Amino acid sequence: MAQEFDITIIGGGHSGLFLARALADQGWRLALVEPRPIGTAPATADGRNLALMRSSREAADRFGIWPALAPVVRPVEAVHLREKPGGATLVTTMRELGGRPFAYGVEHPALHAALATSLAELGEPPRIFANGLRGLERRPEARLLELADGSRIATRLVIGADGRGSRLRELAGIRLDAWRYDQAAISFIVAHTRPHRQTVHEWMRPRGPLALLPLPGRRSGVTWVEPEARARALVAEGEEALLRRLGEESEGVLGDLRLASRIGIQPLGAQHARRYVAPRLALIGDAAHGVHPIHAQGFNMAVADIAELAEALARAARRGEDPGGADLLLGYERARWWANQQRIWMTDGLNRIFSSEAAWLQPVRSGAIRAVAALPPLRRRLARNRMQLV
Ligand SMILES: Cc1cc2nc3c(=O)[nH]c(=O)nc-3n(C[C@H](O)[C@H](O)[C@H](O)COP(=O)(O)OP(=O)(O)OC[C@H]3O[C@@H](n4cnc5c(N)ncnc54)[C@H](O)[C@@H]3O)c2cc1C
Repeated sequence: MAQEFDITIIGGGHSGLFLARALADQGWRLALVEPRPIGTAPATADGRNLALMRSSREAADRFGIWPALAPVVRPVEAVHLREKPGGATLVTTMRELGGRPFAYGVEHPALHAALATSLAELGEPPRIFANGLRGLERRPEARLLELADGSRIATRLVIGADGRGSRLRELAGIRLDAWRYDQAAISFIVAHTRPHRQTVHEWMRPRGPLALLPLPGRRSGVTWVEPEARARALVAEGEEALLRRLGEESEGVLGDLRLASRIGIQPLGAQHARRYVAPRLALIGDAAHGVHPIHAQGFNMAVADIAELAEALARAARRGEDPGGADLLLGYERARWWANQQRIWMTDGLNRIFSSEAAWLQPVRSGAIRAVAALPPLRRRLARNRMQLV
């Protein structure tokens, strides 16, 4: 016998938890399928960190999630970008952008735990299946899901938030365009002797970007992109050498550095599902799209997907409509696919232009940054675009 739900979310990562919380008070019978423990930091937590843009904070506010996030994030009040080796710089401060923070720095485990807490505090949290999705069948009024332990769920709508390797996307036969960059991101957390002053420091370097993201306390998140072989060699040199090189690459802006997490390496690639929807099925977050980290967009694109879908489902709930209705799903796809495609192209283009050792590109890069620095309206426009506000 299958257990029945209106909406089932596959995957309880950041996207699945955020969506579950956004849908929790709409009155649906809601299930969440996630094989890993929810609410505890994975044993493999590896210092990954991300910037939540202002648009995501606004969505978190609307869905009642912000009170759980506020204690674990650090507001970003300025971005200091430097181009190497040309030396062009670009500084943008929040004063120029309405006096509110651009973004918020957060560590992955803290974000996961805060989203899980916000879900657990609800009067009626979703039913959680500590399990993986294995099979999918189509029924006239529902989708039938088979989990790894053989149990079954019949659901009027299934939403895939199961990451880049989405099993649901594969079972639904949705095709994917995907490509690799010959780059990997080294990520970890550092404690430092100088204050970060709520500033993101970014270096655009021919081998790949390096970013320091302010976190609560005198700590910062490092996302350091290098050609993959070099990234692995840097990590293999050991903690002391890695921190010394980071100090050199970051011009000592944070003073003495101490490692405050494990070190992670993620090979980088981008991908985009050709469709976000199929009958009674939708994809969100990394299951739908994956981008290069150069502009800190990935999870912020997921939050925009979630806001769009959750608002459409809230309207359906108010009108007593089917959550898996074709018009609702096609409207979601129309609103998000093209918007995400543009961000995939933008991040891909930025990485190709700024992470290139081609000598002729050097003056182009420096010139572009100097031009933006000299034109405040353009600078503001680009910053607003990055915050996903246009
Ligand atoms: C180096 C780096 C830096 C980044 N920096 C930023 C940044 O600054 N800002 C930003 O917005 N984004 C950033 N990102 C992107 C961001 O980390 C991701 O977009 C986001 O974490 C994706 O979350 P998700 O929940 O969609 O996917 P995932 O985190 O992959 O979660 C998927 C979940 O699905 C579960 N799952 C998998 N298979 C199954 C199954 N068969 N059944 C059930 N459950 C399943 C998994 O256990 C997991 O919990 C960065 C990414 C990288 C690599």
